[in-house]
Amino acid sequence: MSRLIFATSNPHKVEEIKQFFSDTSYEIQSLLDFPNIPEAPEPYDTFHENAASKAHFVHPYTGGIVIADDSGLVVDALDGRPGVFSKRYSKEGTAQSNNAKLLTEMNDTKKRSARFKCVFAIFNGQNTEYIEGTCEGDINTQLSGTGGFGYDPLFLPKEFPGKSMAELTMDEKNTISHRGRTLQQFKRWLIETSKS
Ligand code: IMP
Repeated sequence: MSRLIFATSNPHKVEEIKQFFSDTSYEIQSLLDFPNIPEAPEPYDTFHENAASKAHFVHPYTGGIVIADDSGLVVDALDGRPGVFSKRYSKEGTAQSNNAKLLTEMNDTKKRSARFKCVFAIFNGQNTEYIEGTCEGDINTQLSGTGGFGYDPLFLPKEFPGKSMAELTMDEKNTISHRGRTLQQFKRWLIETSKS
C-alpha cells in the first residue's frame, strides 16, 4: 500500500483529505501521526514558496511522498488580503476573531468578490511538483452555518447560491472547495505518474 503524508495537523483538513481518499488503497498519514515534528516555518509571502518550504522541512522526518499545502482567502476589495496571512489575520488568530476583523474591514463595501486558494507542493525527496485550485465566491455581511472551519461561515461559494461554505455537507464542500479541487487534480496526477 502506498503512503501519502499530508503535512498538516489541522484535524478538519485531515478529515476532509481522508474522506477524499477513502475509495483508494493509499495509506493517508498527517502530522497528527508524527507529533514530534517541530512546526514548519511559513516565512514567505507566496502560497507556492510556503507550501514548498513546509514539504522540504517535513520530508526528512517522514520519508515517502510529502504533500504540503498552503491556503487562504484572497479578497479583492482588500487587495488580496488576508492571503498567505489568513491564519494570522487578526491579533488573536482564531477563526472567530479573523471573521470579526474581516467583517469590520469589509464594512459595507459593495465589492464582495473573493476566492479561496490552495497550493500543494509534492516532494518525494528529489523533485517538487505544484498543483493548485481555487474556489470563487463572495464575502457575506454576516456569519452563517456551523460546519467547516476558518472563514467558511462568511464565504458564499458561487456554486451554492444563498449558502455559506459552513452550511454545506463535507461532500458538497469537497466537490467545490479550493482544497477539494486541488485534491481532485492531485488524484489524477497520482494516476498519471504511477503509469509512467
Ligand atoms: P493554512 O493553509 O492551514 O495555513 O490555512 C491558512 C488559513 O486559511 C486557515 O487558518 C483558515 O483561516 C483559512 N482557510 C484555509 N482553508 C480554508 C477553508 O477551507 N475554509 C475556511 N478557511 C480556510
